[in-house]
Amino acid sequence: MRIVFIGPPGAGKGTQAERLIAVYGLAHLSTGDMLRAARDAKTEIGLQAESYMAAGQLVPDDVIVAIVAERLKAADCAAGFLLDGFPRTIAQAEALDRMLHERGTPLDVVLELRVPEEELFRRLAGRGRADDSPEVIRQRLVAYRQQTEPLLDYYEKKGLLKVIDGLGPVDEIFARIKAVLDPWTG
Ligand code: AMP
Repeated sequence: MRIVFIGPPGAGKGTQAERLIAVYGLAHLSTGDMLRAARDAKTEIGLQAESYMAAGQLVPDDVIVAIVAERLKAADCAAGFLLDGFPRTIAQAEALDRMLHERGTPLDVVLELRVPEEELFRRLAGRGRADDSPEVIRQRLVAYRQQTEPLLDYYEKKGLLKVIDGLGPVDEIFARIKAVLDPWTG
């Protein structure tokens, strides 16, 4: 199964992603995790990405597309993957389509974890990560609304989008996701 997982910061995507990869044996491709690792290791990409991340802004498309293209070549992606936090712009989605088309492995489904904005703010304020100051939270939500939300329409038009209600207990949300994935998993 090849899945794209979309949701605003604070929607609970990370928690659900961990379960998904465990249950379905998917490679977990989190661009946020990759960038944090690169930043902490002070690689060239990490140094390039650092200031954008600290400001809650998106890292330039060419940087992130290169990281994902490289990661998709790894053997563990052959059995299926969950893209978590990528794509985040239309340009990234188009680049992903090209990469997957070349490999002959199109996406199966795009999951949107939907949570109302007031609830996101409440959750993010309690999280306490370094890039979670109120101003940075606000900026990350703005980036989501302006740059990532257009992807929902993009994938809807391709017939790939499935919306998951992200409110409620973690187990219930996971059950909703599993129900949506039933056609692929039996
Ligand atoms: P995340 O953990 O997915 O929220 O990502 C943390 C930060 O990494 C984001 O606020 C962005 O600065 C950067 N980032 C992660 N994924 C992407 C992406 N696909 N495109 C651009 N920037 C990204």
